[in-house]
Amino acid sequence: MENTRLKIAVQKSGRLAERSLDLLSKCGITLERSKDQLLCRAQNFPLDVLLVRDDDIPAFVATDVCQLGIVGENVLFETQEFEAQENSENGNFSKLETLVKFGFGQCRLSLAVPNEINYEGLQFFNGKTIATSYKGLLAQYLQSQNINAKIVTMRGAVEIAPKTHLADAICDLVSTGNTLTSNGLKEVETILNSQAVLIKNLNMPDNLNSICVRLVTRMNAVLKARNSRYIVLHAPINALDKIKAVLPGSKAPTIIPLKGCNEQVAVHAVSEEEVFWNTMEDLKDKGASSILVLPIEKMMD
Ligand code: ATP
Ligand code: ZN
Repeated sequence: MENTRLKIAVQKSGRLAERSLDLLSKCGITLERSKDQLLCRAQNFPLDVLLVRDDDIPAFVATDVCQLGIVGENVLFETQEFEAQENSENGNFSKLETLVKFGFGQCRLSLAVPNEINYEGLQFFNGKTIATSYKGLLAQYLQSQNINAKIVTMRGAVEIAPKTHLADAICDLVSTGNTLTSNGLKEVETILNSQAVLIKNLNMPDNLNSICVRLVTRMNAVLKARNSRYIVLHAPINALDKIKAVLPGSKAPTIIPLKGCNEQVAVHAVSEEEVFWNTMEDLKDKGASSILVLPIEKMMD
């Protein structure tokens, strides 16, 4: 029987899990989910969601178990790089394509050294030992920078390696930097900036591809709406040009007459950027009143 449902791999629990499921929910997809279930079925969309460890997501998509996956670029690029270095036949991994960048799960892969090191540049790492869970990306980076260092692979708790003299430095994910600070380390180089992305296997059959296009259209609509605002205000007709000039990011606001009032109109506009308090004050100074700034739930061109 031909498979008529699209499968997407999503992190089961962890930093990306909640945001990934929230995104699907904002796309109008309702999941039947029971505890410890691996596969959730969407009731109102031809989609099944596979809940797995994030490290396995690129492999699930590369081997056609799922057609799509939501994963950090760090995991995607590490898997691709590792496969390229360890397996000459990495065809499937290199066929993974990024369809959407989500803007959540932001972090960077960085090199960090103990605070007391007087770090003067990458040459520091020559002849040193670096602990990491990102051997593929680190090896590629060191090679591109002509640095000869030894890599020790660790699965977790990489930040304790210098204290226990397992390594001179580490290469790990950083977001706030608090973990580094509390372990007496300082960030000295960034290797990669990462965020969560939607990945796709390029060999998707046509019938599933059309479902994928619908899903991606909805995801883009949710992302676009996330930063946009709907602005409503009243403006004196003689101040309209000045007010329009201050309205953020709106190309063509809608002007609506106000019944029984000849001097004022209502202005409705969509701003694709945040509306700050000082912009609202500026609008008021130019004569605008009854200013409303509303969130937008969905937006489709
Ligand atoms: P799993 O059990 O699925 O293997 P994990 O422990 O490997 O989970 P998490 O810590 O949940 O992974 O992180 C998942 C992803 O979140 C990372 O791969 C990365 O893309 C992103 N992320 C954002 N900020 C950070 C951070 N400060 N540290 C680690 N990962 C981060
Ligand atoms: Zn993981």
